[in-house]
Amino acid sequence: MTAPTDLLSLSEADLAAWLAQRGQRSFRARQIRRWLYQKGASSVDQMSDLPRALRESLAAETALGTLRVATEQSSKDGTVKRLYRLPDGHLIESVLMRYADGRRTACISSQAGCAMGCVFCATGQMGFARHLSSTEIFEQVWRYDRALKAEGERLSNVVLMGMGEPFHNYNPVVAAMKRMNKDLGIGARHITVSTVGIVPRIKSLADEGIQVTLAVSLHAATDTARSALMPVNRKWSIETLVEACREYVEKTHRRITFEWALIEGETDSVAEAQRLGRLLSGLLCHVNVIPLNPTGGYGGQPSAPERVQRFLQTLGRYGVPASVRVRRGIDIDAGCGQLRSRVMEEQGDSHVV
Ligand code: SAH
Ligand code: SF4
Repeated sequence: MTAPTDLLSLSEADLAAWLAQRGQRSFRARQIRRWLYQKGASSVDQMSDLPRALRESLAAETALGTLRVATEQSSKDGTVKRLYRLPDGHLIESVLMRYADGRRTACISSQAGCAMGCVFCATGQMGFARHLSSTEIFEQVWRYDRALKAEGERLSNVVLMGMGEPFHNYNPVVAAMKRMNKDLGIGARHITVSTVGIVPRIKSLADEGIQVTLAVSLHAATDTARSALMPVNRKWSIETLVEACREYVEKTHRRITFEWALIEGETDSVAEAQRLGRLLSGLLCHVNVIPLNPTGGYGGQPSAPERVQRFLQTLGRYGVPASVRVRRGIDIDAGCGQLRSRVMEEQGDSHVV
């Protein structure tokens, strides 16, 4: 038996060709896609305006996506964390966050594992398994949007801050972001792609002509400190990175988000905040500070609240806007990359499906 065709992997033209081979008219492709992307169908049985014979052949020969939920956890604040198993057995994770102002944000993965080796990151500690296809990236978003549609809501925002380095898998990531926008109607400005700092791809994104938000993980303001935390810095220094960011802002007129993990005694001193303030002064940007989420493979600890406040105040003196990222659910704000390693330990109203 041949593997079923994944309907999510087909463009409208591909789907029309697939239907033509079965003697079906091409307008059926639009109907099917409306069910998939606008109505959030979870099975072909729901596609009530298709002839029964077509529904039967779709049910027999196609599938809606390839991800299987391995584990799902729900937090009291409405956050849902999912671990998916890919057909080849690799695990990836994605998180849905619900905010009081109505935003519904999915945090999704771009790779199984990550090759960048940042020492504080659970995903980095696990190493690289493989790139995700653009459909696998898109499916994570589509699934949350579908679940929300069933409740009369919709997904409003996406952040590529789960497992993996999006710019190490650039073309599939960009293709998936374009689909989120085109197929699901998620505003490009509401899609954020976060990079460890792969400079040539920052330049590529500036030329891409899509209005997504760029986030850059900085975490340190000297090359010695940053190279110790993030090996990628040995290839592209802070100066090269910030220069690319300045060019990006000049070209796109878009604000960049810088991410900064506050690690007690490592990245949270006043002197470091001053260096960061000088580095970013005058650049159209916002700094998100995130107290470190401790991981098993790294000894650092999150900064105490008074050190967080002092860091923010110091940045303020340089006119650099900054805020603390609000924690959602249990341990999920620090890159969703920690779910995989923690999923078995966590307390709360979790369940396995
Ligand atoms: N690879 C991309 C996106 C995924 S990580 C990147 O590195 O930007 C998303 C964010 O979580 C990054 O800013 C990353 O540095 C941060 N992060 C990873 N592990 C963390 C931890 N243990 N504590 C706090 N932030 C962490
Ligand atoms: Fe990869 Fe980002 Fe983790 Fe670094 S922080 S190892 S780039 S996922």
